[in-house]
Amino acid sequence: MKILVLGAGVVGTAAAYYLAKDGHEVTVIERHEAAARGTSQSNAGLVSPGDATAWASPAALKTFLRALWNHDLGIKVRLRLDPYFYTWSLRFLRECTVKRLRANTDIKLRLALHSRECINQLSEDTGIQYDERKKGILYFFRSQKSLDTGTDNYRYLGEHGLPIEIVGRERLVELEPGLAGVKEKIAGGVYSPIDQTGDSK
Ligand SMILES: Cc1cc2nc3c(=O)[nH]c(=O)nc-3n(C[C@H](O)[C@H](O)[C@H](O)COP(=O)(O)OP(=O)(O)OC[C@H]3O[C@@H](n4cnc5c(N)ncnc54)[C@H](O)[C@@H]3O)c2cc1C
Repeated sequence: MKILVLGAGVVGTAAAYYLAKDGHEVTVIERHEAAARGTSQSNAGLVSPGDATAWASPAALKTFLRALWNHDLGIKVRLRLDPYFYTWSLRFLRECTVKRLRANTDIKLRLALHSRECINQLSEDTGIQYDERKKGILYFFRSQKSLDTGTDNYRYLGEHGLPIEIVGRERLVELEPGLAGVKEKIAGGVYSPIDQTGDSK
């Protein structure tokens, strides 16, 4: 079959790769002069099922509302006269219940674990290197409150197939000695040993 893929970000190029591998005749069209000039060019480079907790949650609802007037938060919300913005916001807000958080997290976790296998296989099959490091990711929290909420979410991931270790300060420093000097400012953390990192550029 002849297939046209619009957009040469990570999703478009990976889709084209798998379609071509299945024997289809694939053309990728990109509006920029080269591939990966959009979001894919400078993300954090985390291949992290440990990040599978869905963003839409009761906590995100509060952050979303605070972000309307506080522009120093990690998430910025600017009101605009754009109907798409309002329909998207309503859809997002509808997902901010505990029930939807759990359902969306289940889906994200399955997808993240599958994607991690795919990227490793793809890298092995094609020889594409991306400065990958397969040493896990350590997530740490500065306050007891954020640690309690964070560990609740990670425990949920742990119960649904992600190997995780909840770590106290001493273990944290054992895993990352660079934190020794600031360990008193950290309440604790979570270690996700199968998470990976790399360079998206
Ligand atoms: C700050 C930040 C950090 C992130 N960190 C991580 C991370 O650590 N790990 C992770 O897994 N994800 C991360 N993400 C998310 C990840 O980067 C995106 O999910 C991913 O890059 C999306 O890829 P994409 O191919 O769908 O989109 P894009 O990379 O944006 O590609 C879409 C492409 O389509 C092209 N295009 C659009 N419309 C047309 C058209 N009509 N005709 C032709 N071409 C068109 C665009 O030019 C673009 O090149 C991060 C995102 C951000 C913003």
